[in-house]
Amino acid sequence: MARPHIRRISRTPMLSSRRKFTSALLVVDMQYDFVHGSLAVNDATSIIDKINYLLGLPFTIKIATKDWHPPDHVSFAMRHEKTPFSKITVYPPGDDRDDRAREQVLWPMHCVASTPGSDFVEGLHYKALNAVVHKGTHRDIETYSGFRDPWHITVTELPSLLEAQEVTNIFVVGLAGDYCVKCTALDAVEFGYETWVVREAVRDVFDTETHWEEMKKKGIHMVNITEVEEMLKD
Ligand SMILES: [Zn+2]
Repeated sequence: MARPHIRRISRTPMLSSRRKFTSALLVVDMQYDFVHGSLAVNDATSIIDKINYLLGLPFTIKIATKDWHPPDHVSFAMRHEKTPFSKITVYPPGDDRDDRAREQVLWPMHCVASTPGSDFVEGLHYKALNAVVHKGTHRDIETYSGFRDPWHITVTELPSLLEAQEVTNIFVVGLAGDYCVKCTALDAVEFGYETWVVREAVRDVFDTETHWEEMKKKGIHMVNITEVEEMLKD
């Protein structure tokens, strides 16, 4: 197989172009509720083995995100007395200016902090992880990205974990491609990282394919596991 081209020079000033290839694996939301539970993603069980294989590869750091909500989280349909998968408009807490408005899909209650639904899915080799980052912890703020909320009010521990290891390249896998994987990958680019999505180790909530194009347009690369393995041999 042809060796994938690895661009080592960041497009943003945040990372020095002299930094050597340093990799992070980001495992997004591989939790019970997203695989078997209240918000189960179609075919999600089939990526567990693929992610376990990746967890065995020599990334510099391996980090998982967990959706980690209070029981009355803003994204839960129940809180608004609406049907799951309907949509509402949300604003940052205390700021209802029009330009801050965002469409929010209302979900069935899922991944309530410290409940069985928020546990890592059975079979995931979570002991190979170096860190776990929690997101969506604020009652009134939805956070799909592992980095921060869409209004950039709250930031998780993820940026500092990556900075501490001088990471240059981020590899994203997990659930779901059209929400948390996409938002995490888009933020990874904004934070200045060369960003790769291991597409065979991602599953989506909905069947639309537009999110893949959206990611590619922002400079996110799609790779398969064999290509990742080759890159880590450097
Ligand atoms: Zn959630």
